[in-house]
Amino acid sequence: MNDKELVYEVFRLDDWRCVVCGSNLKNNLYAQRAHVLSQGKRMRKRYGNEVIDNTSQQFATCSLECNKKLSIGYAYPLLMDRIAELTRQNKREEILEIVLKHIQEKEKGV
Ligand SMILES: [Zn+2]
Repeated sequence: MNDKELVYEVFRLDDWRCVVCGSNLKNNLYAQRAHVLSQGKRMRKRYGNEVIDNTSQQFATCSLECNKKLSIGYAYPLLMDRIAELTRQNKREEILEIVLKHIQEKEKGV
């Protein structure tokens, strides 16, 4: 699959719904694929392309705002390592569960 096909595959996997807010992605011009572990050079160097480009750590989002929420950034190295490990095992559902919980805790200020 080329990259565009991969984006559609991710939307299909998430049933054309934003995994963060649940909104419908059909006819949404801002619909975008989010990477939990970002595509940045440092992240690629740390985990390799096979992790970063794996759809197990990529999810459908409705907007840049929801995309940003899903990206865990560089501040949580233990969580990053856990996500990478689960990605290698293709445990997509488990990754989403962990990341959504992480977002909730961050919003609550835990
Ligand atoms: Zn959303």
